[in-house]
Amino acid sequence: MKAVVDRDSCIGCGLCTEICPEVFRLADDGKSEAYGEVTEENYDAAKEAEESCPVSVITIEE
Ligand code: SF4
Repeated sequence: MKAVVDRDSCIGCGLCTEICPEVFRLADDGKSEAYGEVTEENYDAAKEAEESCPVSVITIEE
């Protein structure tokens, strides 16, 4: 599984990186990037990040 961030619409709030740092990090441009694979271990956190993103730009592809 992997996470996808619509980076054009990300507002760089950092919430996803706090909820699931194994998958999301803020890139040099201040926007989130999905750098890590979604695994069984971090799936719940990745889904929580998806649901918590204030502008709903995260998609977990299963
Ligand atoms: S929670 Fe959403 S808006 Fe905030 S940094 Fe992550 S992807 Fe961007």
